[in-house]
Amino acid sequence: MYRNLSRSRIAAAVLTLTVLSGTSYAATNSPTNQADTTNATTTQLPRGVTPQHYALSLTPNAQAATFAARAVITIEVAAPTSSITLNALELAFQHADIAGAGGKKQTASKIDVDAATQTATFHFARPLAKGQYKLALDYSGKIGTQATGLFSLDYDTPAGHQRALYTQFENSDARSVIPSWDEPNYKATFALDVTVPSSQMAVGNMPVAASVDLGNGSKRVSFAVTPRMSTYLLFFGLGDFERSTAMADGTEIGVITQKGSLAQGNFALDESARTLREYNDYFGVRYPLPKLDNIAAPGRSQFFAAMENWGAVFTFENSLLFNPAISTQADKENIYSTLAHEMAHQWFGDLVTMRWWDDLWLNEGFASWMESRTTAKLHPEWNTALSAVGVREAAMGLDALATTHPVVQRIATVEQASQAFDTITYQKGESVIRMLEAYVGPDTWRTAVRSYMRKHAYSNTVSDDLWREVDAAAGKPVSAIAHDFTLQPGVPLISVSETTCSAGNTTVTLRQDEFTKDRDNKKALSWRVPVIAQIVGNAQQTRAVVENGKATLTVPGCGPLLVNAGQTGYYRTVYTPQNAAALAASFTGLASIDQLGLLSDSLSLGLAGRQDPAQFLDLVKATPLNADSQVWGKVAGSLANLHEQYAGSSGQQRFDAWAIARLAPVLAQTGWQARDGEAATVATLRSQLISTLSDLGDRSVIAEAQRRYAARTQEPGALPAPLRRTILAVVAQHADAATWDQLHADAQAEKTPLIRSQLYDLLASPKDQALASRALDLALTDEPGVTNSPAMISRVSRAHPELAFDFALAHLEQVNARIDASSRSRYFPRLAAGSAQAAMIGKLETYAQAHLAPTARGDADTSVAGIRYRITVREQRLPAIDAWLAKQAG
Ligand SMILES: [Zn+2]
Repeated sequence: MYRNLSRSRIAAAVLTLTVLSGTSYAATNSPTNQADTTNATTTQLPRGVTPQHYALSLTPNAQAATFAARAVITIEVAAPTSSITLNALELAFQHADIAGAGGKKQTASKIDVDAATQTATFHFARPLAKGQYKLALDYSGKIGTQATGLFSLDYDTPAGHQRALYTQFENSDARSVIPSWDEPNYKATFALDVTVPSSQMAVGNMPVAASVDLGNGSKRVSFAVTPRMSTYLLFFGLGDFERSTAMADGTEIGVITQKGSLAQGNFALDESARTLREYNDYFGVRYPLPKLDNIAAPGRSQFFAAMENWGAVFTFENSLLFNPAISTQADKENIYSTLAHEMAHQWFGDLVTMRWWDDLWLNEGFASWMESRTTAKLHPEWNTALSAVGVREAAMGLDALATTHPVVQRIATVEQASQAFDTITYQKGESVIRMLEAYVGPDTWRTAVRSYMRKHAYSNTVSDDLWREVDAAAGKPVSAIAHDFTLQPGVPLISVSETTCSAGNTTVTLRQDEFTKDRDNKKALSWRVPVIAQIVGNAQQTRAVVENGKATLTVPGCGPLLVNAGQTGYYRTVYTPQNAAALAASFTGLASIDQLGLLSDSLSLGLAGRQDPAQFLDLVKATPLNADSQVWGKVAGSLANLHEQYAGSSGQQRFDAWAIARLAPVLAQTGWQARDGEAATVATLRSQLISTLSDLGDRSVIAEAQRRYAARTQEPGALPAPLRRTILAVVAQHADAATWDQLHADAQAEKTPLIRSQLYDLLASPKDQALASRALDLALTDEPGVTNSPAMISRVSRAHPELAFDFALAHLEQVNARIDASSRSRYFPRLAAGSAQAAMIGKLETYAQAHLAPTARGDADTSVAGIRYRITVREQRLPAIDAWLAKQAG
C-alpha cells in the first residue's frame, strides 16, 4: 500500500510530518535483542482446514449498494470435524452446503455469524472426515462508500453522474466480500466471475477469459484463474472505463481510467513498462502474471494512495494521472514513486508474502526502499537520491519517542495490523535496508534478494528468511546488525570524541548512546552500528562497526571529521563543539547529501536538548545561495517548522523576520517564472519557498500570489500550471470572506474530481478562524462528497488543531460515518497532533478512553507524546534561539 504522503512533502517538511503522520503503537514490552520472528504464526482462525481454491461469482447492484454472491471453496480438511470456521464480515448467508470427493452433498445444519471475531461457523450434522471438499456458500453483502471492502466512488462527468466500483482488501477486508481464510499465509488460487452491465468494463487480477452477453443488458465476465496468492490481493473494479496498453518483456501493461482521462495516464503507462523491465532484471524472477493494470479512481482516502493488488494495482487519480494543465513536478515524481512502489510489491508482497502482519515491513519497508532506489536510477534528473535523508528523518522523529515500536512487532488484532502501516514500518524499514545494502554492497544485496525470491515464490516468509540469504551472500553475519535495528526500537546516537592528528591520519573514538526526545535518563540500548567516516576534503573513507558501545577509528587526512558520510547510517551523530564549528566553517565543501544530514542532526539534537539549538541556525547561515535545491528545501521546511513551534509566543515575529531574510534571496534567485532548461528540482524548490514564505507571513510573497489570483482571467500565465496550486494555497491561507466565497463558488462549479478536491482543500486552509469554522460546517454537508469531507477537517487541523478536534468530537456520529471503521483510531488523534496546548492532552486521553480499545490507542499515545514534546521545545529550547537571534540583531 502507498501511504498518503508524497516524497516531496517528506523532504520539505519532515518535522511537521513526523507529527501529522505519527502512527505507531506503544511497545509496552520491549523485546530483547533476540530473533523472535520464528514463533508460530498468529491466527484468529482454528487450524485444520486449508483453502486451496476459491470460485467466486459476484453480482453487484451498484445503485442499491448491495451484491449477491456464490463462493465455492475447495478445502482440505486435515482432521475430522463437524464445523468449519472462516472469516466473514457483514455478510448474510442464505445457504451453505458441503460435498466430499464422492459428491455427496450435506447442507449446513446451523450457521453462526460472530461480528466481534469477524467469523462465520458452518455446522454439519454428519462429521467431515479428513479429505478434500467443496464448500458452497450463497450470500449477500453491502457496497460501501469508504475505500474498504467493495465500495463505490461517485463522480460527475460532462456526460452525467457516474458510479464506479472497486475493492480494497488490505489488511483484513476481503472477508466483507468473500467468506475466506482471510490471513496472508492462507494462499490459494482464485477464479472470479462477475455479472455486470454490458456497457461497463470489469477488471480483475487476471485477463478476461470469457465474456458472455446475457441478453438483458448484462454480461458475465470470467477472469483467468490467479496463481496462489493471499486474499488481501484480490481485486475487482467496474465502471465506465477506458484502457490503454503497452508491452514490456512479454507482459501487457495497462492503465485504466474513467472515460475521457486516458491520455493523462500515458506518463504512468510508459514509466510502468520501463520499470517492469528493470524489476524483471533486479529480482531475477520474471513478473509471473500475463498482465499488469493500474486502475485510476476518482476521490481519495485519508490513509492510502494506492494498493498493490496482484496484476491490478489500484491508485487514486491524483497519484496516477498527469494533467499538464494542473500537475506539478512534485506530482510527477509522486506518480512515479507510487507506481514504482506498487510494482515492487508485485514481488515483495504478492509473489513472496509476509507470514503474518508482524513482518509487514518485509512488504512495506522493502517496497519503499525499491521505489527510492529505482526512482533515483531511472530518473537521475530528479536527484531523488537526496531524499534518503528526509525518509530517515521522518522515521527518527517518531522512533526517538517513548511510544515507538520495533520494525518487527507483535500484531494481535485487525486494528493493530491497520495501525502497523506507519512511518516505522515504511520509512525506518526503508532506511535500515539502505544501511544494510551499503554495508554489504549493492551487488551482494541483489544476489541475496534474487535467492530469496527464487526460494520463497508463491509462499510466505518471516524476516529471518531474508537475513539468511543476506548472510550467505555476504559471507559475514549481517543478521546480527539487522536484528539490532529491527527487533529493538529507537535511534542510536554516536558521540564523536576529540580527534588527534598524527602522520596525516586522524584518530577518533566513537561511543554509542541512544537518541531520545523524551527520556533524558533512559539507559541506552545496544546496537552494532556500521559507520562510514571521512575527513572533509579527503575522498578516502573509513568503514567500521561500532560494537559494545565503542570503536576507535583511524581516518586518512586531517581536518574536520564527518561521521555518517553518504548518510546511509540509521543513527544520529553528535560532535564536539570544536568539530561542529569546523564542519559549519567548511559546510560548502560537503556533499549535498551530507549537508542535509548535518542540518537534520543539528536541528533534532538541538531541539532534544543534546546540543545548543542555535548550532542549527549557524548552519543555515553557512548555507550558500548556490546550495542544491533540496538543501534549500530542507532549510525552508525546517524554518517553517520552527515558525510553528513559536506559534502564539512572543519571539515568533523576530524569528520570522530572520527566516524571511534567509529565504527571500533564494526565491529572488529562482524567481516566480520557470526558466528554460532549469533543473526539475528547481520547480519543486520554487513551490516550497513560496509556501514557506507565505507561512512566515512574507508580505511581498502574499501580495504577489494575490495579484496573480486577481489577474487570473485577464493575464495569461498568471497561474502557470506548475505553480497554480501553490499560488491558490497562499491565497486561501490568507483569504478574507470575499475570497473564500469566490473559492467556494469555483469549487461548486468544478466538474473535474481532481481539481474539485483541491478546491475543497483550499476552503479548509485559511488562517482566519471564522473561515476555518465555515469550512468545518461545510465539510459535514453533502456538498463536498464523502471523500472530501474528512480531508477538509484534517486540513483545518493543520492550522487549527484544537478547533478541528473539538468540532469532530462535537459531531462524532457524522464524522464517523465518513471514515471507515478501521481508520477511526488513527483519524481523531491526528487531528489533535499539531497542538501545543497542554489541555489537548487531557482531551485526547479522554477521547481514547471513551472510544478506543486499549490495543488501538497507539496513535493517540503518539499524538500525546508529540504534543508534550512541542511544549518542552517551546519552554526549554526556543529561549536559546531567541538569545542567538538577539545577538545577530545586536
Ligand atoms: Zn506498500
